[in-house]
Amino acid sequence: MQLSRRRVHPRRAASLASVTALTLAISTSAGTGQLTADSAAPGSVAPVRSSALRPCMIHGHPNIQMPEGIPTPSGYARSTGTVHALTVMVDFSDAPGQGSALSRFAEFFPQTRQWFATGSYGRLDYRPEAPIRHWLRMPKPFKAYGIERGAPFDPGYRQLVQDIVAAIDPKVDFRRYDLLNVLATPNAGPSALDTVLSVTFAGNTDAPLADGVPVANASFIYSRQDDGSGSYAVTGYRVMPHENSHTFGLPDLYTQEGGTAVGHWDIMSEDWGADNDLLGWHKWKLGWLGDAQVACVTGHGTAAYTLTPLARTGGRKLVFVPLSSRAGYAVELRTREGNDAAVCRPGILVYRVDADVDTGDGPITVYDSQPGSGGCTRSPNVQAELSDATFLPGQSFKDTKAGIVISVVGKDRSGNFRVHVTRR
Ligand SMILES: [Zn+2]
Repeated sequence: MQLSRRRVHPRRAASLASVTALTLAISTSAGTGQLTADSAAPGSVAPVRSSALRPCMIHGHPNIQMPEGIPTPSGYARSTGTVHALTVMVDFSDAPGQGSALSRFAEFFPQTRQWFATGSYGRLDYRPEAPIRHWLRMPKPFKAYGIERGAPFDPGYRQLVQDIVAAIDPKVDFRRYDLLNVLATPNAGPSALDTVLSVTFAGNTDAPLADGVPVANASFIYSRQDDGSGSYAVTGYRVMPHENSHTFGLPDLYTQEGGTAVGHWDIMSEDWGADNDLLGWHKWKLGWLGDAQVACVTGHGTAAYTLTPLARTGGRKLVFVPLSSRAGYAVELRTREGNDAAVCRPGILVYRVDADVDTGDGPITVYDSQPGSGGCTRSPNVQAELSDATFLPGQSFKDTKAGIVISVVGKDRSGNFRVHVTRR
């Protein structure tokens, strides 16, 4: 059965509202240095970026809550190296856990760990850890926390985090962990087919303290994203890498219209259905691409670049053409391999990144090389129209006003593509 768009939509609005609420918490504590070169995520190995790339390190206005800009503001979890994810399975008197807590854990791990290992080319070693192996019974019934779609951090989530901390603090040293995953028993709250409650509060330094540190980055997972197509065992974990990517500072790419801005080209746009990867821009932002893998096009005239498939380790992955200090065009090669299981037209993806557009408002827009075609995929829960958005040899993307042309000129035997970028 294919999940109808209508049923996916409530989640869109829900997460949007949640993010708005949570980022209020961020903005109250955002005075600690915005977007300076040394404000990358604390504890992370802040990538040293060459000055040639600086014009491409676009950044938004400081009041943008979850910006696409580079570098990511401080306060989020580290996105390279070893990341320890404290994971607890919770249940409630009005929603007692069914089956073992570890079977709930197994719905998401080790798949999430593998997804991050593959997508980051081994740069992110994600360690899910569940020191409490049974259901942790919360002191209040689920209903008492007032958790519903769009619920803000206060008061319900604050209470839930305080109750979790009180229950496990004697046994757990929170300073050892980079982020918190709370896996609620799936029978707490509505079905994900009706309302997806799953949410992340990221960079939230006003969160309750545990062992002297705020529980600033926490993902809460509810229900099961089971579309009934029979693929839950394979794809149902994908809400977890989506939510955790918020803890690394990535914004939502879906809008009130759903996945029409970016389609299935990034898990921050669509986390139902077949596996998908992150955009090259996000991989650069997270520190998963080295400087040599990114080209920043600032000169005038025509320059040639060879792009290797984004899913493969090594080689050039991203060409960026800045339009201003706040926005630009990104160019990358997407193929059906690695985390990209649904690509039906391998080729060059062109998209606009706008660091002045906030999470959920469409900070990234993919350009469709075949507008109105209906797309090439029949995969359930994959936005179809943009599935054939890629440009193939002989095709060009043009921004006449800005004087920019991005042409795909060829493909070699290894599957690499050659592009020409012209700036007037
Ligand atoms: Zn989200």
